[in-house]
Amino acid sequence: MTALCGPNKHLVGRSRVAPSREASLAANAKTLTRQKGRISVRIRYAVVDVDDVLIATAETLDAAAEAMFAPLSRRFGQGQAIAVGREFARSMAIGIRRLRACDRRPDDEYADLMRRTARWQQGLTEAGFEVKAWSRHALVACALQACALPVSAAVVEEAANQYWATVAARATVYPDAALFVRRLRDAGIAIHLATGSDGFLTFDDARQTFTYVPEESARLKLARLRSLTSLDFGPDDITVADPVGKPNPDFYRQVLRRFAAVAGREVVLERTVVVGDSLTNDILPLLDLGAAHGVWLLRDGASAVAGSWSHPRVTVASSLDAQEVWNVFSA
Ligand SMILES: [Mg+2]
Repeated sequence: MTALCGPNKHLVGRSRVAPSREASLAANAKTLTRQKGRISVRIRYAVVDVDDVLIATAETLDAAAEAMFAPLSRRFGQGQAIAVGREFARSMAIGIRRLRACDRRPDDEYADLMRRTARWQQGLTEAGFEVKAWSRHALVACALQACALPVSAAVVEEAANQYWATVAARATVYPDAALFVRRLRDAGIAIHLATGSDGFLTFDDARQTFTYVPEESARLKLARLRSLTSLDFGPDDITVADPVGKPNPDFYRQVLRRFAAVAGREVVLERTVVVGDSLTNDILPLLDLGAAHGVWLLRDGASAVAGSWSHPRVTVASSLDAQEVWNVFSA
């Protein structure tokens, strides 16, 4: 059986469902299967990642990094701004490679990057928080340090604000996301969005470390995702990974608790599919908790992974309207 996710009464594994409840679910399934034709009700819940699944974020990142050039150049000159930008891009490439990996174990370059970012985030860990691995504020600090430039609140905030303003202005909802969401809702499948933290931090000049207010970081992330209102998602439908981040199972327990509260019913993990562009951050943690299946969405390289890797409960796809995605929801 699948273990319950913590003490929350909303989350049940199949063997914990009372016999009468099981019979009722089966009867509902038969009825709804007749009503919906091809779409089965075996799957009733979807936990969906946001960046690069519903919103085209990766396509904005080069422009966002370029937007940091002007403030860096004003302070340090063009040559240094180029060097900082190059170091920032190198860190992002290491992070994205980790995000796309099949293996949960980080490579040496990622481990080194996390050591450096953790040093700048000592203020967080001293306050009892996790290191925010995807904090661009911290990556700017790492890049400045690598170029032997001073790190200050003014420069970090100016650069990071330019970066995130560019992402927010340019990231649009994928056309196939609108169709995907509509089709799931038409099939009676409830959707909750689980999105990573952007790691909005504040630099403390005196202590030379970052500090963190999780509520503020989550608020800024929700503001960045305002285009999701076009898909009829509101703040209650989105759980942001502040303060606990992906792939920590406690984050996913929080996702399931909020999902159940909004749906007004139990989230049955055996009837839940998770969709994400990171196997290790989005999909495997929920499969570990008992979710039925994962859709690993690799918009720019599904074929490269599909030939060399497989998992009995994960389907690799290159778009949300791919037939193999529908096969998962209608199995
Ligand atoms: Mg993502």
